[in-house]
Amino acid sequence: TAELIDGKAYAETVRARVRDRVAALHADTGLTPGLAVVLVGQDPASEVYVRSKGRQAVDAGMKSFEHRLPADTAEAELLDLIARLNDDPHVHGILVQLPLPPHLDARAVINAISPTKDVDGFHISNVGMVGTGQDAIVPCTPLGCMIMLRQYHDDFRGKTALVIGHSNIVGKPMARLLLNADCTVMIAHKSSTNIPELARLADIIVVAAGVPGLVRAEWIKPGATVIDVGINRIQRAGKPALVGDVDFDNVRKVAGAITPVPGGVGPMTIACLLVNTLSAFCHQHDLPDLPLLLDEQDPS
Ligand code: NAD
Repeated sequence: TAELIDGKAYAETVRARVRDRVAALHADTGLTPGLAVVLVGQDPASEVYVRSKGRQAVDAGMKSFEHRLPADTAEAELLDLIARLNDDPHVHGILVQLPLPPHLDARAVINAISPTKDVDGFHISNVGMVGTGQDAIVPCTPLGCMIMLRQYHDDFRGKTALVIGHSNIVGKPMARLLLNADCTVMIAHKSSTNIPELARLADIIVVAAGVPGLVRAEWIKPGATVIDVGINRIQRAGKPALVGDVDFDNVRKVAGAITPVPGGVGPMTIACLLVNTLSAFCHQHDLPDLPLLLDEQDPS
C-alpha cells in the first residue's frame, strides 16, 4: 500500500515556518506583511475559502484586509479598489477570489493587480515568467503539489509525469513547474483519448479534473506518486462526502505514495498563499526570501 502524503502536516510545517519568519522580520524591521482578499458576491464555497485565508494570514502574524463587494458590483468599481490596493503600502498581496460573477471580466481584473502583489500568480506577467523558467510568483495549488512532490523526488530528471487537467489555475502551471524541473511531462485533458496508456508511463500523476473516481488502479505504474487535486462534493451512502479525482481505495494498493482528499493538496494550497504573501512582502522591501523546500534550512 502507498504511503499517505500528509498534506495537513506539511501545511502545518510550512505555516509554522512562515509564522516564525514573519515574527523575525517584524522584530528586525517593524514591518508586517498584509494580504488583501477581495470577494465579489456570496458564493458559499468562496465565502469559506476567503474566511479561511484571512484567518490563516492572521495566525501567521500577517494583517488581513477583507473586501466584500455585492454581486452586482460594476467592473470599474472593482478595478478602482484594485488600483487603491496596488498603491497601499500596507498591502503586499492581493487576491481576487474566483469565480467572479459573469458580468465581470476575470482576465481584466486579474491583470489589473500589480504583478508584484499577485499572490495567486495568475497575472499574465507571472504566468509568462514561470512559463519561461524565470523566478516569479507561482500559483498556490501547483506550488503546494511541487513542495510535496519534492519530498518524494529529489531529482525530476529522467522521471515522467502525467498532468490530467489543463486549466490555467492548476494543470498548466503544474505542467510548467515540472517541466522547469526537467521532468518529462505529458498533459491530458477532457479531449484526450489515451489517458490510461499515458498514465501507465508516469512516475508521477497529478490530477485536477473535477471528476470523481477518474484515475483508476489499472492506470497506475506500480510505485508511482499520485497527487489528487480534485475536490468533489458527492453523496455517499446517503451522506455528503468530499472526494478527489482518484479511486483512492484501489489506487492506494498500487501507488507508492498518494495524497488523500481531504487532507492532501487542499491545506497546502492555503499554506502556499501565505508563502507567496511573505515572498511578495520580502521582494517589496528588499528582504531575503524564505526557502520553499521543507528540508532546506532557513538562512536566518
Ligand atoms: P477546470 O474545470 O478549470 O479544469 C478541469 C480540467 O480537467 C480541464 O482541463 C478539463 O479538460 C479536464 N477534464 C475534465 N474532465 C476530464 C476527464 N474526464 N478526463 C480528463 N480530463 C478531464 O478545473 P480546475 O480549476 O483546474 O480544478 C480541477 C479540480 O481541482 C476541481 O475538482 C477543483 O475543485 C479542484 N481544485 C482544488 C484545489 C485545491 O486546493 N485542492 C485548487 C483548485 C482546484
